[in-house]
Amino acid sequence: MAVVLASLGLMRALKKPPPGSEPLITLYLSAEDRVIELGLEEYLVGTVAAEMPADFGLEALKAQAVCARTYAVRKIIEGRDYPRGAHLTDDINNCQAYVSGDEFARRNPANYRELWSKIEKAVQATRGIIMVYDQQPIDALYHSTCGGKTESALASTGKDIPYLRSVSCQYCQASRYYESQQVFSPQQLQNLIKEKPDDKISLKITSRTPAGRVSRLEVNGQSLYAETFRRWLGLPSTWWNLSLDEGYLVVNSRGYGHGLGMCQYGAGGMAAAQKSYKQILQHYYQHIELLSLNY
Ligand SMILES: [Zn+2]
Repeated sequence: MAVVLASLGLMRALKKPPPGSEPLITLYLSAEDRVIELGLEEYLVGTVAAEMPADFGLEALKAQAVCARTYAVRKIIEGRDYPRGAHLTDDINNCQAYVSGDEFARRNPANYRELWSKIEKAVQATRGIIMVYDQQPIDALYHSTCGGKTESALASTGKDIPYLRSVSCQYCQASRYYESQQVFSPQQLQNLIKEKPDDKISLKITSRTPAGRVSRLEVNGQSLYAETFRRWLGLPSTWWNLSLDEGYLVVNSRGYGHGLGMCQYGAGGMAAAQKSYKQILQHYYQHIELLSLNY
């Protein structure tokens, strides 16, 4: 039943592929302002190549392939309004990254073939598999490094999503962003938060999520979303402790990214600890089921 429902939504949005073939999708390439048509699985190879370091273990790459496929299928069913009417875009602000085989070869001249075939293997091994909850493709969000605990959709967006709740993660310490420090001079700080040069800046964290990330803070008495402050300063995440030392701001950060869903470095760590891609996905997205679209 679930297979039929998910497939119908997807197939309604796409041209019907010949029996046994993968669905064809259109992808908007933002740098070139043009659309290409390619197979969904072929698209996923380029997406996994762009979204996860290819030297991660095979099970992590498989988990990434299922995330990327689920994310794409959901976007296609939703019928997003991407440029030139494409099903998907390579603009990471609105969708997932994508890299062509040629570009990937330029980026990895020494071991392109080996890495590309490893990614192809991860995509083929999970062909057609997506994550569903309540018979629908999930919102398969993922991020680089959680820093020890993922974030819940409830704390982040105000909406409780049963498969996007906070879970602990002991597997992402290998990321250089597991814990990191950023230091800003008084001048940099004034430029970034656009205060007058002689203004003294005061900062106060006013609320945190249950997982520990900052949700709001006060900058010179003005209340601000942590995400806004993160953007201003180009910080890796919203999980920090702040201290001001003679006008210098010291930020001790944990993680990189929004913290929702799969922690990619955590997936890499779980794969290194011999966990399967299913165990990885079921850790970061609770209560989900895996479903094959059977094409
Ligand atoms: Zn993690």
